[in-house]
Amino acid sequence: MPICGQQRKAVPIVSVFLRLSRVKGLAMSKGKVLVIDDEYGIRSGVDQILTLEGYEVAEAETGKEALAALDREPFDIALIDYRLPDTDGLTLLQNIRKRNLDIMTCMITAYANIETAIAATRQGIDFFLPKPFSPEDLIGVTETLIRHKLLRKEAEELKKAHEASLLALASEKSQTHSLVTSLRDAVLVVNRTGEVVLANPAMGKLLRKEEDSLLRKPAAEILAAEPFAPIRAALGQATGENTVFEIEMGDQQFMVSLTPFHSERREVLGYIATISDISEVRRLALEKSRFIRTMIHEFRSPMGAVKSILEVALDKSMGDGLEPYLPLLDRAEKRLDGLVELIGNLLSLSKIEAEGKKKVAFEPVDASAVVKEVIELYREKLQARNLRVEVQMEPGIPRIAIPADDLRTLLVNLIGNAVKYNRDGGTVGIQANRLDGKARIDVTDTGLGIQAQNLPHIFDEFFREKRKETRDIEGNGLGLAIVKRLVERSSGKIEVQSTEGVGSTFSIYLPLNPLR
Ligand code: ADP
Repeated sequence: MPICGQQRKAVPIVSVFLRLSRVKGLAMSKGKVLVIDDEYGIRSGVDQILTLEGYEVAEAETGKEALAALDREPFDIALIDYRLPDTDGLTLLQNIRKRNLDIMTCMITAYANIETAIAATRQGIDFFLPKPFSPEDLIGVTETLIRHKLLRKEAEELKKAHEASLLALASEKSQTHSLVTSLRDAVLVVNRTGEVVLANPAMGKLLRKEEDSLLRKPAAEILAAEPFAPIRAALGQATGENTVFEIEMGDQQFMVSLTPFHSERREVLGYIATISDISEVRRLALEKSRFIRTMIHEFRSPMGAVKSILEVALDKSMGDGLEPYLPLLDRAEKRLDGLVELIGNLLSLSKIEAEGKKKVAFEPVDASAVVKEVIELYREKLQARNLRVEVQMEPGIPRIAIPADDLRTLLVNLIGNAVKYNRDGGTVGIQANRLDGKARIDVTDTGLGIQAQNLPHIFDEFFREKRKETRDIEGNGLGLAIVKRLVERSSGKIEVQSTEGVGSTFSIYLPLNPLR
């Protein structure tokens, strides 16, 4: 802290006014100064000089008056005389500091010595102006104090801003860290010299190593295994471009993306490699294209059959009369019916897929009513094949928590199969009862049964048993796939028990309406 104005020749205060040729306007105050001195001459002299300089000045004769003024209004500067009638400057300074004011303080005293200066400094004085002082000294010190105050404020604001940005940076850093750590994709960051600077737990898992043990190792070393050769090569000849390619490890496929990161001057500082397991995506894509191939085949064969029948009829190759063609036309109609059913089933499947897991609003359904309705649908077929229907519904079974349309569709498919794959004169059974808080509905038949090796595939799309007994039975292999999806989306499950040549039982378990 500078101690200004060593003892030098004082300029009498009265002469100050004469020397001040410039009279300032009262436009805007340069700052507020409180002068605390018991000497009237000093107080009013300081007051007049600083007022002329554009400051707002208040005077206090005693320590008590000074504190009262400071409690009343804010000041930028307090000029404090060392010797006051009711207290000394240091005690007053202490009291000012206790108030935690945003104020600059300057001791003015005729008893300036180094001890006083040290004591005042300890109390946190900002400046020291020994008496007597010249108007220039006073003005200079006041200006300096105002400047210091501004600087102190700016420094505090800068500090606050810096702390805030440090905090933001720290939280951004920790967010980035937890983001990278929790990523399912493996992430490896390599610097310009090919050294690993970051590896996330997924990367550690992929390489079967602790991710921290990978740090600072050459990427070429940790990626030495054969499946990673394309990554090593890509890093070796990296051109600063984004590169995307696939690698294989056993039966898994991965997508690798190499992205350069740059300095502010656009120099490549290193690469970020993300390795994502795309096996499931690939499997789904394969399944989808297999599905489409089968679907095209399912469309082509009945259309081909109908076309040949129409050709025979149009060529009149069996004569002019309609009679000989009737069995053929009947067959064409059946194939077209099959096609219509196929389209209906495909639409149902795609509707279920589009609706996904979303819960549709529905009223819990009375299963007995739906069972009756579906049996009615098959009445003709049942009679034609002399099939007996046995229905056993546990009395008072509460409503089932499934949309009525879904229950209808799945019963149409299961009862339809029990009719289709039955032997003439056989039985179709429908039992419903309560089991462990769920509804269990069994659809039983006494027909062809299913071969044991085919049971695991029975719910796959387009799966049909290829047996001589089933060869002439119409179908497209989508019914059970639809049933399974409908049951599962109502949080239920389906099971099948079957013995070849004896018959099958399909059991569905569905939640009951929780309100009854
Ligand atoms: P679709 O009956 O149209 O062929 P599904 O998906 O309903 O299609 O059934 C798939 C296959 O499961 C059938 O082709 C048949 O081989 C077998 N299957 C289904 N239900 C029965 C059943 N009740 N008895 C014997 N086999 C059945």
